[in-house]
This record gives sequence, structure tokens and C-alpha cells, in this order.
Amino acid sequence: MNTPKRLVLILGDQLDLKGAALRGFDFKTDEVIMVESIPEAQYVWSHKAKIALFLSAMRHFSHSLQELKYSLTYIQNSPLSIVGALKEKIVEKQITYLICVQPGEWRLKLEIEEMARELSIGLEMREDDHFYCSHQEFSQWAAAKKELRLEYFYRLMRKNHHILVDSEGNPEGGQWNFDQDNRKPYPKKGPGIIEAPVLFEPDLVTQEVLDFVNTTYSNHPGSLDHFRWPVTRQQALEALDYFVEYRLRNFGIFQDAMWTDTPFGWHSILSSSLNLKLLNPREVIHAVLDAWKKYSLDLSTVEGFVRQILGWREFVRGMYFLDMPKMAQDNYYDHQRQLPQWYWTGQTHMACMKDAIGQTLEYGYAHHIQRLMVTGNFALLAEILPSAVCDWYLAIYVDAIEWVELPNTAGMALFANGGRFTSKPYIASGAYINRMSNYCGSCKYKPEIRFGEAACPVTTLYWNFLIQHRSQFESSPRTKLMTANLKRISDADQKLIVEYADHLLNKLNHL
Ligand SMILES: Cc1cc2nc3c(=O)[nH]c(=O)nc-3n(C[C@H](O)[C@H](O)[C@H](O)COP(=O)(O)OP(=O)(O)OC[C@H]3O[C@@H](n4cnc5c(N)ncnc54)[C@H](O)[C@@H]3O)c2cc1C
Ligand code: SF4
Repeated sequence: MNTPKRLVLILGDQLDLKGAALRGFDFKTDEVIMVESIPEAQYVWSHKAKIALFLSAMRHFSHSLQELKYSLTYIQNSPLSIVGALKEKIVEKQITYLICVQPGEWRLKLEIEEMARELSIGLEMREDDHFYCSHQEFSQWAAAKKELRLEYFYRLMRKNHHILVDSEGNPEGGQWNFDQDNRKPYPKKGPGIIEAPVLFEPDLVTQEVLDFVNTTYSNHPGSLDHFRWPVTRQQALEALDYFVEYRLRNFGIFQDAMWTDTPFGWHSILSSSLNLKLLNPREVIHAVLDAWKKYSLDLSTVEGFVRQILGWREFVRGMYFLDMPKMAQDNYYDHQRQLPQWYWTGQTHMACMKDAIGQTLEYGYAHHIQRLMVTGNFALLAEILPSAVCDWYLAIYVDAIEWVELPNTAGMALFANGGRFTSKPYIASGAYINRMSNYCGSCKYKPEIRFGEAACPVTTLYWNFLIQHRSQFESSPRTKLMTANLKRISDADQKLIVEYADHLLNKLNHL
């Protein structure tokens, strides 16, 4: 029997020399392939920084492979899809066996499986070991639950992996969750001095990519002027060290806070490195736990951070693979409106949206509360078609890969799956944004006004949403309180809110 001719596919978000794809690589016979695909950067209208980050990180990774003497086919700027280019090479090289790590995008997974069937080659799709929880473990956990909630999954992960628990499995500090300590706005005078995150000057490889992206994708959204993302594992490790030493201490307390021209706050800015697999979540959590002792950090900040990685990151990934392809089509409220044009330009009078979108266009980054409670909240209240919102998030953030973007956007921000893993829609009026930021101070609109020219659109649409969905909100103890506040608004004012909301919804492009 002939030995199979094996090809190892490494995707742009699988850049780990120790990852599952390269395990058991036979240097005598096996080959690696990596593909830069132009259509891949275009199927959503990707931010220039997102395209540049992928290309630069892939090219740096390919140099490491070459230094280590892997036999590598690296296809630059293919006009074909990833699978189209891969297929050509498989035929040309008479490959009989393809190895890869499971892609983080459902579509790509299906395409690769279909191609392998069509070409009658062997396919070994290995589990991605950049996660604590395997698909099997997650499905088993989910199958035994009536309600799929982060909190219970997170506790199990803590216990299973002995993270922040004592020898009997009890939570460190006597509590599983310190969320209540982690929701403070910045002081009224502003955030004060924040240790800036470590930034990386583009080297020659990155510079070449930036020039290429600026020329080839000149009509794509966003800017490359501030491109300082880690593009190698070395840089990602440096970013991690810097974060735990200088920025972690205030991560927890100001996790939800927003302030004009403060794009990164005390956040880690590690998502793109984690998602490209330049960093492994285990080393991130260990670095955080070491820093806790070394720098005598508050448990609340450490727990808050661990929850994001060991809890949310694992949970949404489990949900994505459990619920696809349905998750991409869900539209619980049957929202059909188009995404306002200013999501792509930041040109709106709403100061909160202008700041969150403005920094997104500059850096390809906004932190969680900006994504959830500013741009996400507005999209839900403004009844935007979920798939249009999801395409925007997938296009515009440098860390956006579908396994993490879709559950966060469709599931968390838009309640598009009717609360499959959240107990209520995450909605808020301008009062919340006013409490958590300084945005309203410079805004044309007033957060406390519910209708009329000076009314805050977020506030009008929030009350309108509650009025429209009153019975749904009243049916759950978690949301009953929200509609209880409606009783304080007279029927006449509620009528005016609905009329004014209707007016706003018909001129979303002009807010
Ligand atoms: C509508 C919406 C869309 C989102 N899209 C993405 C996306 O495309 N890619 C992405 O990585 N995250 C996404 N998130 C989650 C979160 O906003 C980002 O992970 C975070 O803002 C990245 O910044 P950071 O690295 O500074 O994170 P930090 O605030 O410092 O958090 C630390 C790490 O925890 C992880 N994390 C935190 N929250 C989440 C979460 N809800 N889901 C998964 N991981 C989490 C990330 O790996 C992050 O790097 C989205 C959230 C919302 C509400
Ligand atoms: S007033 Fe409303 S629109 Fe303006 S910044 Fe505040 S929340 Fe945003």
C-alpha cells in the first residue's frame, strides 16, 4: 500500500508552531500550505487593519516555518478562495491526505469537508487545542442543562481546571463571581493616567503589508495609521507580560467604563493575539494568576479577567459549534432594517456612537461594553437586521472570527436567538451610557429626554422597545422590573415616545 502524500493546511488564525496541525509532522514527506486569499478579505467589507493583521502575522509565521525547515507552499494574494487555492495545490501535488485544525468558521469547515469528499482524499480535522473545553465536553454539558448559562459553565471550568478554587473545589475568596466590584465608571474628572498598552512599530514585513493593503483595499473601511498590533508570538508574549505587570491591576474595576478618546482603557488588548493563536489561553491565565501573587492584585480583578477567558471565551465558542448553522439565521424579533451608513464612517451626532465607531475605524478595536452597550444596544433598539449587524462586527474588529463574533453579536447583543444563552436582552437607555461614560456631556442629545428634537435616540428607542415588547418583558422575573418603570410614564407620553421612535426609525441614517 502506498504511503499517503500528506499536506498540512494552516489557516491565518492558527499560527502556533506547537499547535495540533503540526503534530506528528514528517519532515521527509509532509508539506505545509498557507493561503492568502483576496476573496476572504472581501466577503465582508473588512477593516484594513484586520486584513493587514492577518497578512502580516501569516507572513511572519511562514518565515518561522521556513527557518525551522518545514517544506512550505505559501500562496500570496490568491484571487481564489482558500479552498479554491488549496484544491488546485492538492491536485497539482497529488496529495492524498489533508491535515488541518478545525476552522473557526462553520462555512470553511463545510467547504474543506466537501472538497475532501469531492477529491476523494483523506481528511484529518484535528480539534483546536487553543481551548480548554472540547466540543464533546461542551455538548455533553449542554445536553444535561435546562438553561445554558455562562455562570454554571464557568464554575465547572474553574473546578475542572483547578483555577481559583481550593483543594475542595470551593471558589477562592468564597465567591465565584466578583462582577459587582467590577462595574465602576471612571471618576467624574476622568480616568487619570492609564498605562498605555505596549505597541509594536511595523517592521519591514508589516510595512510591506500595510502598503499592499492601502493600495489593494483602498476602499475598505478603517485606517492603518495606528497599526501597532502584535504580529508575532514574541510580540504577543511581550504584550501579555506588559499587561499583567502594568495594566491588569485596574482591569476589573474599570472594565465597563468608557471615556472619550480613551480607546483601550485598562483592557488587555490581547484578543487578536489569542484568536490568531499567537497566545494560548492557558499561558494567559497562568500569567494572570502569577501576577496576582507577585503584584498583590485584588482577587476581583483577577477573577474578572479569568472569567472572560475561561468563561466567556470558551462558552461562546461552545455555543457557536453547538448552534450553527442556525445561529447565523436567527432573527427572534424579525428585525429587518438596514444598518445605518454611519456605522461605516462614524459620522453621526450621537457622541457615544461617534466615539465607539471612531476608535473602531482608527484601531479596529473597541472594548466589550462599547461593543455590547453602545453599538450593539443601538442596533437592537433600532431594529436592524441581525445578519447585517453581524457582518459589520465581523468586518470591523481585528479580533473578529466567526466563532467568537457571531455568538457575541447575534446571541448576546441582539438577542437574535430569543435568549438561548442569555436570560434577557441587553438593552439600556442613554442613562446607562451617561453613567458609564462622559459621552453625553458633549452630545447634541440629552440622555434624560425621551422624545422630541433634543431627546437622546438611545433613550427614545429604549422606551419604545420596552413598550413594543412589554408582554415579553413582563413574563420574566429577570425583566419585569424594567417594564415596571414604564408605569411611571403617562400614557400620553408613551404615545409620544412611540410616535417619536417611529420618526427616528425612519431616518436612522441621519441621527
Ligand atoms: C457584539 C460583540 C461582538 C464581539 N466580537 C468579538 C470578536 O469578534 N472577537 C473577540 O475576540 N471578541 C469579541 N467580543 C468580545 C469582547 O468584546 C472582546 O473579546 C474584547 O473586547 C477584546 O478586547 P480585549 O482583548 O482588550 O479584552 P479584555 O476586556 O481585556 O478581555 C480579556 C479577554 O477575554 C476574552 N473575552 C472577553 N469577553 C469575551 C466575550 N464576550 N467573548 C469571548 N471572549 C471574550 C477575550 O479573549 C479578551 O481578549 C465581542 C463582544 C460583543 C458584545
Ligand atoms: S445623549 Fe444619548 S446619543 Fe448622546 S452620547 Fe448620551 S447616550 Fe449617546
